[in-house]
Amino acid sequence: MKFEVIKKSSKSHARAGKLYTNHGVIETPVFMPVGTQGTVKTLTPHMLHEINVQIILANTYHLALRPGKDLLKEKGGLHNFINWPKPILTDSGGFQVFSLSKMRHITEEGVIFRSHINGDKHLFTPESVVDLQLAFNSDIQMPLDICSPYPCTKEDAIKDLDQTVRWAKRAKDEWEKRHTGQMLFGIVQGSYYKDLREKAVEMMTELDLPGYSIGGMVPIGQINEISGFTAQLLPENKPRYLMGVGLPENLVQNIADGLDMFDCVIPTRLARHGQFFTKTGRGNIRKAEHRSNDESLEKGCACYACKNFSKSYIHHLFKANEILALTLLSYHNVYFLVNFVQNIREKILSGEF
Ligand SMILES: [Zn+2]
Repeated sequence: MKFEVIKKSSKSHARAGKLYTNHGVIETPVFMPVGTQGTVKTLTPHMLHEINVQIILANTYHLALRPGKDLLKEKGGLHNFINWPKPILTDSGGFQVFSLSKMRHITEEGVIFRSHINGDKHLFTPESVVDLQLAFNSDIQMPLDICSPYPCTKEDAIKDLDQTVRWAKRAKDEWEKRHTGQMLFGIVQGSYYKDLREKAVEMMTELDLPGYSIGGMVPIGQINEISGFTAQLLPENKPRYLMGVGLPENLVQNIADGLDMFDCVIPTRLARHGQFFTKTGRGNIRKAEHRSNDESLEKGCACYACKNFSKSYIHHLFKANEILALTLLSYHNVYFLVNFVQNIREKILSGEF
């Protein structure tokens, strides 16, 4: 369990680092594609290797409900089951309990909820969520937390934050007893109240965990302000992970603010709506202007989709509801973001960022 900052920018708070995990070294800053159900939608692990994806995310809530802990344990953990030998980060499932489940009841012990799949009752406790992620063999795991909704009164944000910290302490106790090199990150909550973010950092860093993440629902216009403020308070020698953020327009600022890790469903979600990233903004392959356009999604892009296929062809595939359209758009979008962050890393190393 080691994180090294190998270069600090003289122009901003940006840094380039290396995070050592049980399944290899992650060069930071890093963009992590999301594979909620143990797959990055429409892409094979082979494609992810080609794109040079270093780490993927999976979701504890979804995997705990289906296929379940016992099956994943029986199959030798998540890496083995999904045939992905590189690092995996799993989130705690707390966010999904609050966003997907129709019924949930929070007690000091944990959260009782009904599965969105079949209505079965489940209990997540800080200990059981650590236990699940150890069974998955996630390289980086997240403790059970409460992600305050938006908007949220200060009183409620304080209550959620205090509960999150009490649960994090219990998660740490369980993790310390049982881990074999898997890391547990603390989650800093506090909604959009800066003084609460400060309090959250104080309480969470007392636990001296291997890394820290910034969570919570903050309006899009305030994300950079809250994450930048919070990042400066976090320890320099630990990785800093901004959860659920990954738009190019945010990433430049977030990296300059000293954040190291990012995840977002956006590259594959946009692909399902026909959208693709370019250096000058987003395009949409459904538009009639692409119907007979022989150019690639983005001029000069070295990804498999751009090197081999025209917009005209992908437009046709999309119009015909062919799955390959989603694969090619997802491939390009994931490649775009992974390389976007990788290029910034190179600029930090060469002193240009
Ligand atoms: Zn491309």
